[in-house]
Amino acid sequence: MNRTDDILTFMKKFLYKIQELLIHTGKQIWMIPIRMGHFLRKLGLKKNKREIIKKQEKQFSEHTSGSARGKGALVKGLGAGILAGVMVTVVISAAIFHSYAENAAARESELESQIAGLESENKSLENRNELLQLEGDKAEIAKKNAEILSSDEEGWSLVLVNEEHPLATDYEPARLTAIDSERSVDSRIAADLQKMMEDGAAQGLDMYVTSAYRSYERQREVFSAGMQERLNRGLAPLEAYEDTSTSIAFPGTSEHATGLAVDIIANGYSELDEKQASTPEQQWLMAHCWEYGFILRYPQDTGDITGIIYEPWHYRYVGKEAAKEITEQGITLEEYLGE
Ligand SMILES: [Zn+2]
Repeated sequence: MNRTDDILTFMKKFLYKIQELLIHTGKQIWMIPIRMGHFLRKLGLKKNKREIIKKQEKQFSEHTSGSARGKGALVKGLGAGILAGVMVTVVISAAIFHSYAENAAARESELESQIAGLESENKSLENRNELLQLEGDKAEIAKKNAEILSSDEEGWSLVLVNEEHPLATDYEPARLTAIDSERSVDSRIAADLQKMMEDGAAQGLDMYVTSAYRSYERQREVFSAGMQERLNRGLAPLEAYEDTSTSIAFPGTSEHATGLAVDIIANGYSELDEKQASTPEQQWLMAHCWEYGFILRYPQDTGDITGIIYEPWHYRYVGKEAAKEITEQGITLEEYLGE
């Protein structure tokens, strides 16, 4: 039983009381002439006997007619009572119904708002679930990427690491080969890299590896330094973050953490910008890197696919077969892997 039902029950009881009262009033109206008769008769007792008889006869007739009138009054009274009762019933019922209808409308509106609230809550939960699912998926990808890289099974060189496909932050190549005092690469690519650098040098080119394997911690330092440099230039924090992330992969999403990527620059032009592409060193690397199992990972006008701006210095080892196909088709690693 809710409050509306309680109110309705109370109103119904109240209504019956009014009906009873009105019907009773009808009875009272009917009683008036009878009482009048008794009163007149009492008055008549004070007259002489004849007069008393006359009075009694008269009173009797009056009583009779009074009784008849009383019956009429009874009918009329009852009728009026019932009619009034019915009228009040109708009016109050209408009022109750109206109030009930208003309550119902208010209740319906309240329920609608509750439903809308629940729907909105549900939607936000769905969105949250999607985000959690996405985060869950990413965590799964990151773990799987680390597993594939750790294994020597086919496919280790084709691991995709980007913003949507992170790498477990604790991944470390099982074997690292130093290429100088500070830098090292995954030992599985060391020989091909060395051959490429030697062949380039043999062509009279002067270039060197400026960046190779970077641990997650190192990537964090590089990313922070990139952001700091932009903040110092006066960029707002969010702008600095967004600008940094277009050229430096966010920690956990960098290919450098795989040990399969290297940044090679010309000795004569050490800036990491698009002009690097015009150097004879990059021209040669872009034309021949596939022969050594490398691809230019972030080609011009592919930022919408790779998520990284044109980087004519970042080379990624994918294996000789894949490098050949990717180069011939002029596609990115994402497109090659159908991602
Ligand atoms: Zn790089």
